[in-house]
Amino acid sequence: MIQIENLVKLYGEKTALEGISFKVGEGEIVGFLGPNGAGKSTTMNILTGYLSATAGTVKVGGIDVFEFPDEAKKKIGFLPEQPPLYNDMKVSEYLNFVYEIKKCKLNRKKHLAEIMQVTKIHDVSDRIIGNLSKGYRQRVGIAQALVGNPPVIIFDEPTVGLDPKQIIEIRNLIRNLGKNHTVILSSHILSEIQSVCNRVVIINEGRIIADEMTSNITKVANDSREYIVKICAPQREAASALRSLNGIVFVEATGERDADSYTFRIRSEAGVDIRKPLFYLLAEKGWPLVGLEAAGMNLEDVFVRIMDADAKASSKSKKA
Ligand code: ADP
Ligand code: MG
Repeated sequence: MIQIENLVKLYGEKTALEGISFKVGEGEIVGFLGPNGAGKSTTMNILTGYLSATAGTVKVGGIDVFEFPDEAKKKIGFLPEQPPLYNDMKVSEYLNFVYEIKKCKLNRKKHLAEIMQVTKIHDVSDRIIGNLSKGYRQRVGIAQALVGNPPVIIFDEPTVGLDPKQIIEIRNLIRNLGKNHTVILSSHILSEIQSVCNRVVIINEGRIIADEMTSNITKVANDSREYIVKICAPQREAASALRSLNGIVFVEATGERDADSYTFRIRSEAGVDIRKPLFYLLAEKGWPLVGLEAAGMNLEDVFVRIMDADAKASSKSKKA
C-alpha cells in the first residue's frame, strides 16, 4: 500500500533523512518509533505530499506521490503534528469546509455524520473549535483526516499533550480505525506503539534501525528483566543483599522512600526469573516486600538492546 524507497531529505546543510526505505501492506497498523528529531515528521510530511524530498520515491497505492500528488493525496488522511484547525469555525462548519477542499463526492450529510459518530464529536458539532479541550480538538483533527474515506491514515504523534484519559480514548479510536484502514502512527513512546500496532519501524537520526513485529520487540525488551521493588528494610543492607543474589546483574536505590520502605531498580540476567529467589531472600531476612512491578522499558533501553543485538548479529555474520 505504501512503498518508500531511499528517501533522502536535506534541510540546507542538515541531513534529516539518510535514505530510508520501508513498505506498509494493506490493512497493517505500523508504528513509527523514534526519539525527538529522528525524522518522523519529515517522513510523514513527505509521504503525505506536504513536503518535497531531496531524493527517493514514495508510492501510495501504486501512485507516485511526487508525480501525481493530487491523486496520491486522495488515498491518504493525515493528522499532522499541528492539526490544521480553524479556531473560529464551528466543528460542523469546519468539516464541511474540509469536505469542499477535498472535493469529496460521498453523500455529504451521511458521510460527515458517520465521521462525527466514529470520532465521538457529534455532541460538539455546534461548538467553536477554539473553545474545545485539547482532547476534542485532536478528535476533530482525526475527523478531518477521515473525510473522503481514504484507505490510508497517517497520525503524527497523535497523543502528545493529552491527559491519560484522552490518550486511552485516542488510542482506542486509532485501533478501531485500523480494522478497516492502513494506518501509520508515529510516537516516541514504545508502550504506545506496543498497545496499538502489530509492527514497529524504528528510526534514529534519519536512519531506520529496526523493522520488526511488535511482539519481537517486546521479546527483545523482556530478554533481561527489570523490576522496581519496594522493600521494608534498611536501605544499604537491602541493596547489598540484593547485589549478592545470584542472577541479579544490577541494583540501584532509586532514593524513593515511603514510610519504612525503600525502592530499588533491579535487573536480572537474561533468561533468569528472579522473583522467586528474591522472595526467599527477603523472607530469610525478615524484610517485607511491599511492591514488585516490571519496569517498563524506555525508548533508550530498547535502542541500546537493538543496537547490541544488531552488532552481535553482524559480527557473527562476519565470522561465518
Ligand atoms: P521528529 O518528528 O522525529 O521529531 P523531525 O522530522 O521533525 O523529527 O526532524 C528531523 C530533523 O530535521 C531534526 O534534526 C530537526 O531539527 C530537523 N528539521 C526539521 N524541520 C526542519 C526545518 N524546517 N529546517 C531545518 N531543520 C529541520
Ligand atoms: Mg515530529
